[in-house]
Amino acid sequence: MPENKYKICFPHMGNYYPAFLTLAEVLTCEIVPTPPISKRTIELGFKNSPESVCIPFKYNLGNYIEALDKGANIILQAGGGCRFGYYAEVQEAILKSLGYKFELLKLNNSLNPLKITKEFKRFNPNLTMAKFAYTFSLAYQKARWIEQFEEKIRLNIGFEVNPGEYEKLFKKFLKDLVEARKISLVRRLGREYREKFGAIPIDKPKNPLRVGLVGELYVVMEPFSNFDIEKKLGKRGIEVHRFVTISNIINDFFLGQRPIKHWLRDAKPYLKYHIGAHGSESVAVAHKLAKDGFDGLIHVKPFGCMPEVNAMTALHRVSRDYKFPIIYFSFDSQTSETGINTRLEAFYDMLVMKRKKK
Ligand code: SF4
Repeated sequence: MPENKYKICFPHMGNYYPAFLTLAEVLTCEIVPTPPISKRTIELGFKNSPESVCIPFKYNLGNYIEALDKGANIILQAGGGCRFGYYAEVQEAILKSLGYKFELLKLNNSLNPLKITKEFKRFNPNLTMAKFAYTFSLAYQKARWIEQFEEKIRLNIGFEVNPGEYEKLFKKFLKDLVEARKISLVRRLGREYREKFGAIPIDKPKNPLRVGLVGELYVVMEPFSNFDIEKKLGKRGIEVHRFVTISNIINDFFLGQRPIKHWLRDAKPYLKYHIGAHGSESVAVAHKLAKDGFDGLIHVKPFGCMPEVNAMTALHRVSRDYKFPIIYFSFDSQTSETGINTRLEAFYDMLVMKRKKK
């Protein structure tokens, strides 16, 4: 078989590698795995990006430079409704000015299978719409199982009888998931691991502290970018609840304006108009959790993220009206992990004291 001249790479985003890999495999190109995010990734991203651009842009750019250096010649990038919609074009211009030769494959603001198949055919002429639809569904199923187990971990990691068991099993699951190339196999694997996760012994109180995590989607979902905030909280015996996931984003996408209407309804009276990206959702979730008696909320965003900056004003009012503790973290290149840890620790102590008073 002749060697495929195309070598594709895609950026990191949380634990979704097996799902993204499935999508990239439909192109039948060689996959160039992007090295795990490291200090070097960040340095490369920050050095070559405009200073004021959002942090996810910089992380992605660092990912691409590392993959291009390893021989990739196609970049897969998505797009969204805010500045995310311009990432691909700007990154392309920067990388080309650095002398890299590659093609950009942009999953635009459309999940129209016909359009995507047509675009993907540039690299795999034998691709049919049926094949693409199957692959998309396979990747989606993978994402759903990943999210299901991530949630299990977020809610229970602080109560393990034998610390480390959840993470060890989750790593094994992700490895096995990469090899599953049929929907039936993914389902079987998911069910098998659901039992294994369920069998991990935990010692959990009836009414543990419950905290929500909201904010900009990349920083919420990519642990490297938020200094593993979920794990840090979870290990202190807090249930961490988060609602931003890739499958929810895809579902919302197919529902058009409906999710925005729901968010605005839940965010009433704190928001009247949609404030872009996931800003309205952050407010809606905060309002709901405050009413549900959650102990607190963590709001995370990249420095300068307008939708989430807008959300903060409404969040302050939710916090005041419900006496609902909210802590805000803004991430940029200067953010230090020590500072995050200190503030998290103080937030935790405050939640414990508040609970004791109750
Ligand atoms: S949501 Fe915020 S950080 Fe993310 S791309 Fe949009 S503006 Fe940038």
